[in-house]
Amino acid sequence: MPNPAPYVIIHHSYIPPACNTTSECIEAMQFMQDLHMNTNGWNDIGYSFAVGGDGNAYTGRGWSSVGAHAPLYNNKSIGICVIGDWREELPPQNQLETVHNLIQLGVDSGYIRSDYILHGHRQVRANTECPGDRLFEEIKTWPHFSSDVDVFYNDTKKKS
Ligand SMILES: [Zn+2]
Repeated sequence: MPNPAPYVIIHHSYIPPACNTTSECIEAMQFMQDLHMNTNGWNDIGYSFAVGGDGNAYTGRGWSSVGAHAPLYNNKSIGICVIGDWREELPPQNQLETVHNLIQLGVDSGYIRSDYILHGHRQVRANTECPGDRLFEEIKTWPHFSSDVDVFYNDTKKKS
């Protein structure tokens, strides 16, 4: 993937649920990797990174490989999964801080554009509540969040 990426897309995992210890978070990563590789048939876990409730960031495809997390944006975004179900609850502060630090590291290292645009997954794809209502309300307050969407992936038309 060409760097620096112009977009950051925020996800929640929904399943697996929130992890609080490093061993739980490693298990959550392995669960998602198995799902994405064995069930979905992808090359690797779909996200660029995932962040756990233990405050660690875990590498998925990393900074420079095309992900599989948001159609139309996979080749121009860093996809970050905040592990847990954030429809009603806000992730703990240490987890959110790590998301901010990870984005800043990407900017400082030249992997993310300094004028990047931040979106929640639901803004760029039909039929998903990702990253959960509560987390989505939170990221609306973050720097670089934009409600203006360039392209939107809608694969629901074929159903009607
Ligand atoms: Zn998502």
